[in-house]
Amino acid sequence: MVRLAVVAGTRPELTKLAPVFWELERRGLEYVFIWSGQHYDYMLSGVFMEELRLPEPDASLGVGSGSHAAQTARLLVALEDVIDRMGPGAVAALGDTNTVLAAVKKGVPFIHIEAGLRSWNMTMPEEVNRIAADHVAQLLLAPTRLAALNLAGEGIPADMVRVTGNTVVDALASLSVGPSSDGGYVLATIHRQENTDNPSRLASIVRALGRIAAETRVVMPLHPRTRKRLGQAGLLEHLASSGVELLGPLSYHDFVKLLASATVVVTDSGGVQEEALTLHVPTVTVRYNTEQPETVMLGCNVLAGADEEEIVRLTRVMAEKSEEIRRALSRIPNPYGEGDAAAKIVDAVEGADISIREPDMRGTPMLTYALEASPGPGSRIIYGVSCDGSITRRVEGTPMFMVRRAATWPKRSLCRRQSSTIDTGSGCTASYHTSPGGSTSQC
Ligand code: UDP
Repeated sequence: MVRLAVVAGTRPELTKLAPVFWELERRGLEYVFIWSGQHYDYMLSGVFMEELRLPEPDASLGVGSGSHAAQTARLLVALEDVIDRMGPGAVAALGDTNTVLAAVKKGVPFIHIEAGLRSWNMTMPEEVNRIAADHVAQLLLAPTRLAALNLAGEGIPADMVRVTGNTVVDALASLSVGPSSDGGYVLATIHRQENTDNPSRLASIVRALGRIAAETRVVMPLHPRTRKRLGQAGLLEHLASSGVELLGPLSYHDFVKLLASATVVVTDSGGVQEEALTLHVPTVTVRYNTEQPETVMLGCNVLAGADEEEIVRLTRVMAEKSEEIRRALSRIPNPYGEGDAAAKIVDAVEGADISIREPDMRGTPMLTYALEASPGPGSRIIYGVSCDGSITRRVEGTPMFMVRRAATWPKRSLCRRQSSTIDTGSGCTASYHTSPGGSTSQC
């Protein structure tokens, strides 16, 4: 296997990558661990490294917080230096953080763990990061079949994708935390920027949690960002005085034990939705979309958005159905796998050819594409452009190479045979075709 650099920088990356580190160690494989320091509070990083017995980082970049642009820029500079010094054969990173975005840019073969998740919401920085990561990765490790399907829909060749399961299942099993009985309280976690940095959404969520706390016990470990924003918005006092039990961020073990016995979890966290499904805990997601569609399809997760009435109503509904949902989930296989995701991830990395090669474009055109314009009835003109710069113009009825129905323009794998048609806007479609050895097939 190539010498691997594993790059991480946040709490969810540590909890989800821990089983991968354990597996690399178990097999005695050579790797380096680069810690970006995107999360720097002890309770968001150090405690997880200790509790999950993670290796000492070989390099700590200490980039800290800042705007997305500033943080990503610092990460790019710091990572370049470390990767140049360490000379890994491949870089692996998990998920959708700025650390992941910076890690793909170095031009070293990139392995994306947790590939294919989509919220379809491009206002989320995480969505931008994960799409960028997926479209430049040489090996994409999708946690579920639905995630792999998203990648197929975006034209990513199937032979670059493996379905591995989700390492949250491995991590929970290692802590011996499993499904438990209903402990009679609601657990709440809110940290996502779309909620914390939007004062009206944050106020609506606070009002909803206050109303739920009037009916049942509500426990809420606060992410530092959430505490800060609540303070700035003058909502911290209101939340505490409405009876919500506010805690600091918990260690992983403490948190998942609390999660396992919750009647319902009210959350905007991606990882918590996955863990809740694995622990059979009904979930109310405080978002308008989710990258975890499996949880919704199985009926254990409902999307309330940041709407006060919906959060209160759906929490009551899910609390009433808590036992029923717990029973139902105990009878079906977990879509996130059986706890062997880390083994499948390391198998895939060991077995993959992930070098980046420059395609040989000399000789007859290897890339040919054409624009079919339909300016009006009966006047169709077809333009073909070859990579040697020649442009051909054909008239209606001329044989064209094309395969219909492909959704997007696959930008990569020019050495592979591929064909596609894309909609370029009003009345136009563009078709292109690539094939090895410079031949273009025409029908
Ligand atoms: N988590 C934790 N302590 C807490 C809250 C969450 O250990 O007080 C864990 C949780 O179990 C999950 C991870 O943090 O494994 C999720 O991280 P976060 O919600 O920050 O990120 P996301 O999953 O939304 O990217």
